[in-house]
Amino acid sequence: MHASNELNISCKTHAISQIIREDNYNPDDSVNEIVSLDIDEEPSTLHGCFNAMEAAPSAMAMEDCCVKVAVHIRPLIGDEKLQACKDCVAVVSGKPQVQLGTHSFTFDHVYGSTGTPSSAMFEECVSPLVDGLFQGYNATVLAYGQTGSGKTYTMGSGCKDGGQTGLIPQAMTALFNKIESLKHQIEFQLHVSFIEILKEEVRDLLDPNSSNKSDTTANGGQNGKVNIPGKPPIQIRETSNGVITLAGSTECSVQTLKEMADCLEHGSLSRATGSTNMNNQSSRSHAIFTITVEQIRKGDANSSESMGDEYLCAKLHLVDLAGSERAKRTGSDGMRFKEGVHINKGLLALGNVISALGDDKKRKEGAHVPYRDSKLTRLLQDSLGGNSRTVMIACVSPADINAEETLNTLKYANRARNIRNKPVVNR
Ligand code: ADP
Ligand code: MG
Repeated sequence: MHASNELNISCKTHAISQIIREDNYNPDDSVNEIVSLDIDEEPSTLHGCFNAMEAAPSAMAMEDCCVKVAVHIRPLIGDEKLQACKDCVAVVSGKPQVQLGTHSFTFDHVYGSTGTPSSAMFEECVSPLVDGLFQGYNATVLAYGQTGSGKTYTMGSGCKDGGQTGLIPQAMTALFNKIESLKHQIEFQLHVSFIEILKEEVRDLLDPNSSNKSDTTANGGQNGKVNIPGKPPIQIRETSNGVITLAGSTECSVQTLKEMADCLEHGSLSRATGSTNMNNQSSRSHAIFTITVEQIRKGDANSSESMGDEYLCAKLHLVDLAGSERAKRTGSDGMRFKEGVHINKGLLALGNVISALGDDKKRKEGAHVPYRDSKLTRLLQDSLGGNSRTVMIACVSPADINAEETLNTLKYANRARNIRNKPVVNR
């Protein structure tokens, strides 16, 4: 991909008139309270799927109801090789099972550090979600893991590598191929937005007025503030029918694959990065690339059985989460430490939402799901646990020096397998 400084695509901001209820989430209300995840290992790993099977009328429906969790183990890289690190993550032959020391976890898929898993990963994990968009199902792909574990590479949301083989470029290609085959029967409108959440503030990565610099202060912010001066902050809102929108963010209307790829590239360049002890180019923000697909299927005016025009709308969130490492390990202080705390707040809130959704007993009792505890979970509210299909790709380094963080990632991902979504079609 080449750097482009201009986005030649028509963009709009969200129509505020559609918005009924305003989000009253205030990051200052919530103390930076760390709620630990209640993590179970292997014995409960299959629990969610078995329960889903009992509840589901068919194998197909079971597929729909489960959150899929895959693990991607990248190869040893640069420093790890220089330090002669040992590979400490073993994949059990013929099974989607990972072993780390005495711990063993089973996932839906495991992609090892040898070979090129990208197209298999796309076909197995993301392609069904792209197909589901055409039936009106929202979907979310989450790349989770410590800084340097390969999240950006796997998603293809970086400027450097993973460009063509990453999951986002592959999703875009599959989407346009499908549209090409359906365009004679259905009218499509596509929009993309690309935002990041840094220190509990939402930043528009497609703002045509923003600079492409990766320095967080380059956009006129002070003390790491990332919004453009004079521009109202982007707000997460909820419509009366539970659809989450981003008021004030740029939505680009795109008609071609090239236009969509330009948006991805422009936003990736704009993404804030910073240095910590973990990785010089570590990303401290959650980056969310969202593709919205609107379909109008024309009814047959001459048929008495025709129901008229049918409208479907669904969105695909492709999320490159911030590094999951503990704040203390970044060795940061001052502003950057605060960022670390906020990042953990988002990921912990995500973990607590996952935990609440995965707890069958609590769910039946209508227990509160704490979506409002962070901007990240609030934004994903209509795409986690409700009208959505979700895939988490847990990215891990195989190096022994990262074993502690890798174990945390595997535990977190294991917990996510217990979520049961109930897909509802948006009409
Ligand atoms: P993260 O986004 O989790 O911080 P990156 O995606 O930036 O991690 O990856 C860290 C480094 O590892 C990069 O230099 C990247 O090129 C390399 N890398 C990640 N995944 C792979 C892979 N599957 N194969 C080869 N190199 C990889
Ligand atoms: Mg990254």
